[in-house]
Amino acid sequence: PTYRGRYYPRSRADLVQRVAKQVSPKRFEHILRVEEMALRLAKQWGVDLEQASVAALTHDYAKEQSTQKFLDFIDAKQLDPNLKAWNSAIWHGIVGAEIVADELDIQNQPILDAIRQHTTGAPYMTTLSQILYMADYVEMGRDFPGVDEARALAFEDLRASVGWQTRHTLAFLVANGKPVYPLTILTYNEWSVEK
Ligand code: GDP
Ligand code: FE
Ligand code: FE
Ligand code: FE
Repeated sequence: PTYRGRYYPRSRADLVQRVAKQVSPKRFEHILRVEEMALRLAKQWGVDLEQASVAALTHDYAKEQSTQKFLDFIDAKQLDPNLKAWNSAIWHGIVGAEIVADELDIQNQPILDAIRQHTTGAPYMTTLSQILYMADYVEMGRDFPGVDEARALAFEDLRASVGWQTRHTLAFLVANGKPVYPLTILTYNEWSVEK
């Protein structure tokens, strides 16, 4: 979409260029595919296309930043010190939102929340946050058992598709002996459990 300056002060091409400088070519291609999927989901669910584009293009902006930079931002922004025990898989969303705000002049809180929540989800997510969480998971380059089903579900029942992802991510983490970030469990309990 043509940017009208509501979420990012310059053009989409300018934002794309700044993102490309911070990530590997492979990750950049992923980011463009997430934007494509986020725009399709935004049309389906009535979310502003410019807002969806900015959130998608910036969601993994911080993924390749150094450990020291993440630790410095956790201190500078007075984030939960327990975050320091984690790694860039968790930091690039939660801490990455602060880096995006500072370095890319993006101040729209729903966009920053969507970036924050794109890896772990959260008990409360706006439609924009749900769209980014799902677009990242089912963009056309993703290939895992059930991806077609998850992709179709995101267009039919967005809420149910968020539940599907949280259930499968938690099962994957447990099956592989990975530590589960506490917010991931809260997301699972809210979105994926029969009430
Ligand atoms: P990407 O940045 O496009 O690769 O995708 P994400 O930001 O969604 O996920 C990054 C990584 O974090 C993936 O490998 C997820 O499986 C992993 N991840 C998601 N939740 C958790 C969690 O609670 N704990 C751990 N250890 N990893 C997680
Ligand atoms: Fe990510
Ligand atoms: Fe994700
Ligand atoms: Fe991603």
